[in-house]
Amino acid sequence: MAATQAEADIHLDGVSKRFGDMTAVDDLTMSIPRGSFFAMLGPSGCGKTTTLRMIGGFEDPSEGKVFLGGSEVTQLPPYKRDVNTVFQSYALFPHLSVERNVAFGLERKKVGKAEALKRANEALELVQLGHLGKRKPAQLSGGQQQRVALARALVNRPRALLLDEPLGALDLRLRKQLQIELKRIQQDVGITFVHVTHDQEEAMSMADTIAVMNGGRIEQAGSATELYERPRTAFVANFLGISNLIEAKVTGDQRVATHDGVALHAPECAGLIGDVQIGVRPEKITLILDGEPVPDGSNVLRGKILVAAFLGVSIQYVIQAAGGEELTVFAQNTDGTEAFGAGREVQLVWKPEHTFVVQRG
Ligand code: ATP
Repeated sequence: MAATQAEADIHLDGVSKRFGDMTAVDDLTMSIPRGSFFAMLGPSGCGKTTTLRMIGGFEDPSEGKVFLGGSEVTQLPPYKRDVNTVFQSYALFPHLSVERNVAFGLERKKVGKAEALKRANEALELVQLGHLGKRKPAQLSGGQQQRVALARALVNRPRALLLDEPLGALDLRLRKQLQIELKRIQQDVGITFVHVTHDQEEAMSMADTIAVMNGGRIEQAGSATELYERPRTAFVANFLGISNLIEAKVTGDQRVATHDGVALHAPECAGLIGDVQIGVRPEKITLILDGEPVPDGSNVLRGKILVAAFLGVSIQYVIQAAGGEELTVFAQNTDGTEAFGAGREVQLVWKPEHTFVVQRG
């Protein structure tokens, strides 16, 4: 991953967590750079929350060490770690005003009341709730309450903020709005955010670095673009969108994979030999009617349109390729785009550099 251990704000070294004979997190080593927005993404049960809880100090690792800012904290309780956690349920005190909710932690740390309220209102400004400090939590919407929880977690300027599906309880429209706001807030405060989610779009829209987890391990970590354009495993390829994976064989020429007798150029095949799976994202494919010319150097598969669905910004096609697989194509609905109906014979055409290669299995 990007940061070395020395530069890392948060570093896990060979961390495992077992519950009885069940391994929730399996020998995880990772570094989260200072000031980055880091997302842990994966399906339910893959170990994201357990990892976050070990960083926060709510769970003891069965093995391995946790470092914050270069110092080992494995044995420290949560309140002695310079990190705050925002959970899906915001747990505000109903009888306290919004500003007192935010100031509460500071007052307990013996910051004077006036100073605590001043800082609470600064934190509320940050989440754009500066005007609602006198209200009670019940007088706010769900999204506003979650922002109060965020202000409360930011008010003492921790080294890092740990966010455990913080938007999970909100409806889709509000979630999208808060995703953008969270990113803005992270940029403004510049502290490290570690965000747990099972929503790939959420992770991709916010994080500088995403670690895709599966079965207690990190399958692949990188920027959203890297993971989307260059997935290394079928799991990552499928989790981050439609992969159009097809079976192929790399033989003599190592930059060519053969599928159903058709040679497909794939620069990533260099150095590989034998059976592979290759994929291409749906929006990278252009449809050209059978018999019409295709650009030189393109990869081409033939197929027949099974379904054409109009989605507004794009048209989604499901196509039966000559080799039998069903592939998906998104065509932008721009001026001059010709829509094809079901039953048409087409060529699926894409550039070799848009072909990715994943390990089998
Ligand atoms: P979700 O998105 O559903 O929260 P997750 O990826 O965050 O999932 P974890 O909550 O970390 O997953 O759980 C990982 C595995 O560990 C799961 O199989 C879960 O059932 C198990 N697990 C978590 N906490 C405990 C516990 N306290 N006791 C026993 N098993 C647990």
